Amino acid sequence: MATIRHWIGGAWSAGSSDRTTPVWDPATGQQRAEVSLAGPAEVDAAVRAAAVAAESWAETSVAARTRVLFRFRDLVDRHAGDLARLITDEHGKVLSDARGEVQRGLEVVEFACGIGELLKGVYSDQVSSDVDAFTFRQQLGVVAGITPFNFPAMVPMWMHPVAIATGNTFVLKPSERVPSASGLVAELYAEAGLPSGVFNVVHGDRVAVDAILDHPDVAAVSFVGSTPIARYIHERAARAGKRVQALGGAKNHAVVLPDADLDFAAEQLVAAGFGSAGQRCMAISAVVAVGTAAEPLLKRISALAGQLPVGPGRDERSQLGPVISAQARQRILGAVGTAVEAGAELVLDGTGLRVPGHEEGFFVGPCVLDRVTPEMAAYREEIFGPVLCVLRVDTLDEALRLVNANPYGNGAALFTASGEAARTFHRRVQVGMVGVNVPIPVPMAYHSFGGWKDSLFGDRHVHGPEGVGFYTRAKAVTTRWPRSGATEAAPLSFPTSR
Ligand code: NAD
Repeated sequence: MATIRHWIGGAWSAGSSDRTTPVWDPATGQQRAEVSLAGPAEVDAAVRAAAVAAESWAETSVAARTRVLFRFRDLVDRHAGDLARLITDEHGKVLSDARGEVQRGLEVVEFACGIGELLKGVYSDQVSSDVDAFTFRQQLGVVAGITPFNFPAMVPMWMHPVAIATGNTFVLKPSERVPSASGLVAELYAEAGLPSGVFNVVHGDRVAVDAILDHPDVAAVSFVGSTPIARYIHERAARAGKRVQALGGAKNHAVVLPDADLDFAAEQLVAAGFGSAGQRCMAISAVVAVGTAAEPLLKRISALAGQLPVGPGRDERSQLGPVISAQARQRILGAVGTAVEAGAELVLDGTGLRVPGHEEGFFVGPCVLDRVTPEMAAYREEIFGPVLCVLRVDTLDEALRLVNANPYGNGAALFTASGEAARTFHRRVQVGMVGVNVPIPVPMAYHSFGGWKDSLFGDRHVHGPEGVGFYTRAKAVTTRWPRSGATEAAPLSFPTSR
């Protein structure tokens, strides 16, 4: 049984902790490897390697840093298939979906290749006699990323290309359930010429996370995962004086008005609800059908979802793979059962699905629950599986009140043919990312990604301009170069410009 190791200071490291945890193949339900779980000693070794590298990396020119990123970009592109296969084997998502996540991660690398433009400061000439002022941004030092299972390549790539391009060094603690993609990324960085210690990977669970949060040499922490852990990370890292952005869970609504193209909306919602078996932070999990849209929409969604081919991610015929673990499968089946007990109607039932030849795999077929109400646990809690909840309301106003009352605020979408309704929606809805006739409005790499309310703790979104802001801090410099012969007394009163 292979043991997946850490990557510290430019080399593989077994570490000194003897704790490990299994890594599963969700399509077969079999263990495929084990991964080392770091303790404080491994985390300290990684942070020390990063701290040593930080001095020279911060002195490396923007051009030289960028050249490494350009080479890294080409290597990731060339190895996109390898990365996708690692993701599929450990996460379960179908290969085309895994390729898609690599591509979206790559776009952040491409954004980071243009970092010179974003690090340009601002300069004010002659703010006082012979005095000039400028402000520019500098890196923080050692920064860390702690990431979830559902995007083993993309979510870490929201962080490390921007952190590294801006001159920081990075310690990544990926999800212990999907550790392998990060190891390949580390090798590709090394091949691209990134100096040892600039990018490190420590695998682990809560023990490793706490060691990162408490380490005095970690200046900032980026986290993506579930809301309870995001809240915990934010509090503990902030208490330790660190800069922190902690992105949490989600309940993303799609409001469908009767004037929408319902064939189009149904197709989009099936893709957004069941792609990646519903295990995306931007998956649509609640459809809010307004007025007469409900019946025809539900009929179309159930028909389309009922035909989705479910199977192992490596099989090109599959559109829907397994969920991450046996426990996740049980939790999802439990959530569907509880909703039915509470009065919801299970109009498409995928709970009994078995995939021939993969009977031990963690599969759940598409489920559609109608007449879900805001009080039901299936609506209040993040199910994170292939389950679409349909709620019915009478007006757009009512739909907005419902969406805004939800504690999560990641994404929301509206399907309509009305510009007026779309404008009302995008202005009034209380979420960080809004789609109009776009069900998964994930911003491009040169914008920033992040939710509101319980979907983000901290005030900076990831990647794009806010990511650059997160990994840098501003310095304002005031310089005086008096003209020769100029003499001026220095008054004791507070300096003002003249
Ligand atoms: P998770 O919160 O269980 O784990 C995330 C990370 O935290 C992992 O690295 C894990 O090792 C670590 N962790 C787990 N328990 C911990 C604990 N008690 N103390 C300290 N660290 C701990 O999340 P997950 O199940 O891996 O991922 C799915 C969740 O992530 C969903 O809630 C999903 O909505 C969310 N997510 C959010 C976004 C976003 O952009 N907002 C993106 C992707 C995923």
